[in-house]
Amino acid sequence: MSENKLLHNQVLVARLDDTIKWLRGNIESHAQKVVNWGREYSLFAYPFVTACCGMEFMSVWSPRYDIGRFGAEFPRFSPRQADLLWIVGTISHKQAPILLRVYEQMLEPKWVIAFGVCASTGGFYDNYSTVQGADKVIPVDIYIPGCPPRPEQVLDGLIMLQHKIQKEKGRVML
Ligand code: SF4
Repeated sequence: MSENKLLHNQVLVARLDDTIKWLRGNIESHAQKVVNWGREYSLFAYPFVTACCGMEFMSVWSPRYDIGRFGAEFPRFSPRQADLLWIVGTISHKQAPILLRVYEQMLEPKWVIAFGVCASTGGFYDNYSTVQGADKVIPVDIYIPGCPPRPEQVLDGLIMLQHKIQKEKGRVML
């Protein structure tokens, strides 16, 4: 094979490689968007309810606020079937290992919302028995303030989580 022909073939292979990389990147980024869209509108909630915020949590689930609009109305009572953990209320140090276990039982990808100031920071229970925020035990994606938070605030937090899910990368492999 002449030197010119060899060089020509090498250029062709390099271009082909670049094209495959470009195509792969494009397909992956579009697939990621579609998967994220599916995930953000089909959240399966697991409510970990420990205290008075539970009353407002029930209110959010009532027809008046229609959380079904956001694809999150389907609570699961096994963490193995859920991908969104709602921490609703105060977490005591005795409950912390249970919370951790529940979180570990959930499959990836999973997200966590701290509902109310107690779950977010311990609230006014700054004492020996209370964990000063659920993120001392597990990672938290969204914090919703309030004692208890209004349903509108909760829906706002849910929408923030959906935006976060929409921007996620690296969870689809081709
Ligand atoms: S934030 Fe307020 S309503 Fe919610 S669990 Fe704490 S004390 Fe109760």
